[in-house]
Amino acid sequence: MLSAYLDGKGELVLGERDIPKVKDDEVLIRVIACGICGTDVHVFKGINKGKPNIIRGHEFVGEIVEVGSSVKDLKVKDIVIVDPNIPCMNCYQCRNGRIHLCKNLTAIGVDLDGGFAEYCVLPSRQAYKLPSNIEPIIGALAEPLACALHGIDRVDIKEGEDILIIGGGALGLIITQLVVNGGAGKVFVSEPYKEKRDLAFGFGASRVIDPTSEDLLDVIKDETDGKGVDVVIEAVGSGKTILQAISAVGDGGRVLFFGVAPEDVKIDISPFEIYRRELTLLGSFVNPFTMDRAVSLISSRRINLYPLISDIIPLQDINRGVDIASTGRSIRVLVRP
Ligand SMILES: [Zn+2]
Ligand SMILES: [Zn+2]
Repeated sequence: MLSAYLDGKGELVLGERDIPKVKDDEVLIRVIACGICGTDVHVFKGINKGKPNIIRGHEFVGEIVEVGSSVKDLKVKDIVIVDPNIPCMNCYQCRNGRIHLCKNLTAIGVDLDGGFAEYCVLPSRQAYKLPSNIEPIIGALAEPLACALHGIDRVDIKEGEDILIIGGGALGLIITQLVVNGGAGKVFVSEPYKEKRDLAFGFGASRVIDPTSEDLLDVIKDETDGKGVDVVIEAVGSGKTILQAISAVGDGGRVLFFGVAPEDVKIDISPFEIYRRELTLLGSFVNPFTMDRAVSLISSRRINLYPLISDIIPLQDINRGVDIASTGRSIRVLVRP
């Protein structure tokens, strides 16, 4: 089968692999579509390190073509989305309900072969059935949606609170819809690309901001009578936007570090400011216990993921897909074997 992985030099290459064999508790899926995540772009562009020879791709949907002998709940022809994160269930974090912080966490598409291939084998408990009323490729956005749900859980937004979302990529636009659906007060989205701002506005943002032509902090001050927003969700992962987030949040507010920053980025923040303004800074990592809710939301049709698919690229052209995904213009690039 055709598959994409990093060679020993860290270059993304295409090669033939054997179709993996199914163990008792596993399913074999034919990959329908797999999203190129920002974390993949970081690895493919050499910004963060990735394991050589592992087939990457963790945001994928597929059709089951074979089930292991002990698999009961899934059958051949089921369309499934994949939770890539596999906790050990034995360590301190797992035993205390924080499976995503598992000491022995492994992830499909990171440590184990993933979705940039024609087929992928995975433990059946990592597969979630997609309802038949949903077009399968939408399932490639289920894992990002599940990550967004965890972020929203972390920041515990109350109805009527004013929210600023920095970054209108796939995650920023999913979060925009979630907070609008959840009854936020004013929702601001800062994003340099017009197409994405237009989408954010269409999803119910009260005001979109072009940070290349407007001063984000001035706009937020104007729109909130000088008090700042209750919550900022930073969905870019750059030092600059994280500092903007801390400046735009009001006293007593919360800032969610949702965007994935390159590992070596450092920021200069004032501990006195955090203390005196009583700010809460929160991280959010992956998708613990949120996959079922993601499936439920997708089938409710109250979240619109279709416009977030900006490009669909054949697996043979994955390098071109990565180039597109690393431009600010694209939203989610899907790879189809
Ligand atoms: Zn991802
Ligand atoms: Zn564990």
